[in-house]
Amino acid sequence: MLIVQKYGGTSVGSLERIENVAKRVAKTKKEGHGVVVVVSAMSGETNKLIDFAHHFSKNPSPREMDLLLSAGERVTSALLSIALLERGYDAIALTGRQAGIYTNSVHTSARIDKIDTKAINKHLQDGKIVVIAGFQGITKESEVSTLGRGGSDLSAVAIAGAIKADLCEIYTDVDGVYTTDPRIERRAKKIDKISYDEMLEFASMGAKVLQNRSVELAKKLNVNLVTRSSFNDNEGTLITKEDNIMEQPIVSGVALDKNQARITLRNIKDEPGIAAKIFSKLAQSNINVDMIIQNVGQDGTANIGFTIPENELEKAKSVLKELDASEDTEFDSNIAKVSIVGVGMKSHSGVASRAFSALANDNINIEMISTSEIKISMIVAEKYGELAVRILHEAYGLDDRHPA
Ligand code: ADP
Ligand code: ASP
Ligand code: MG
Repeated sequence: MLIVQKYGGTSVGSLERIENVAKRVAKTKKEGHGVVVVVSAMSGETNKLIDFAHHFSKNPSPREMDLLLSAGERVTSALLSIALLERGYDAIALTGRQAGIYTNSVHTSARIDKIDTKAINKHLQDGKIVVIAGFQGITKESEVSTLGRGGSDLSAVAIAGAIKADLCEIYTDVDGVYTTDPRIERRAKKIDKISYDEMLEFASMGAKVLQNRSVELAKKLNVNLVTRSSFNDNEGTLITKEDNIMEQPIVSGVALDKNQARITLRNIKDEPGIAAKIFSKLAQSNINVDMIIQNVGQDGTANIGFTIPENELEKAKSVLKELDASEDTEFDSNIAKVSIVGVGMKSHSGVASRAFSALANDNINIEMISTSEIKISMIVAEKYGELAVRILHEAYGLDDRHPA
């Protein structure tokens, strides 16, 4: 088989752990498989580099940020390759550029346009283990780009799709995808199989075990995706087509996203085109607006509230300042989004009301709500986020889905 293995930050978080990864990779190679390895930066490394940049600037140049952040993954790829060579395995480390990963020019959250597989395929044919620095690529203008936080997952899936790998394994620090973050709810259960669509919604709502764009691409390219632990040999979670899953629970899981911020524009003119003006300007600046609420206007004015990723707040502030849409603007980053996700919701009623009642029983105020066919999201005060997750996990019977 041809296998892509991706090892996340914790899995390569120390020299001993990189040695452990080298052992695993070597074992896969010894079993006769072709192996491409994609690595993340050592855990904490990317955050450290971001903090370094913020020491000098609140709004550092995205181009220089990409050059800076891509360094973390290069370090790990080179170290892993050195460890493999020392064990007697023929390995070669490649940067995103050397691996032929071409992206668009949106620095710090670039999209992969194409992968030129020549170099990877050549090294594979020569029997080498190819170790690729994740999270990065190169633009048409030969500038280094990065793929957004958690982007090594995307590198792995894109490479697996491009070289037509039989399997893409995402190795991390938990045994797979759980009904909720096992660090928040210790009674969370591992899910054996989950559909691409459900996983995509789950990841988009904050289940960071997989980056959402990687799941989207895996679905598009039909990549066989598995998440599992790099610390044991337990079977992981298979992310696959909906048809391959026999039994669909109404609610599969609960996700928490604390990295949300809300902006409220008060007393803006209540006239046609105002929302278009605000939101197209934000979109042009690549700011992802999520939930939007407009209150019924009074005296020709209205209030609009919306949520964005917290790390885009500074950018949004400057866009809104330029627009001069409201003199009375409020910014709040002490909010969290809790979401319940489940394909089975499509065909059941009363799913949402159970969530609202459960949170009300514990006096947690829901500040915004949005729904899709397979998810319900609620904004609550950040300090209640984790409690809300536990309450919802219990309310939908996820604690005892597969009794241990
Ligand atoms: P890596 O560094 O390997 O990419 P991440 O930290 O990005 O790892 O993702 C793994 C983490 O995702 C876990 O340690 C866990 O705390 C968190 N997580 C959040 N939601 C879930 C979930 N539903 N199932 C499993 N892990 C989850
Ligand atoms: N190192 C990058 C991050 O921390 C990418 C990744 O780990 O997937 O976001
Ligand atoms: Mg990750």
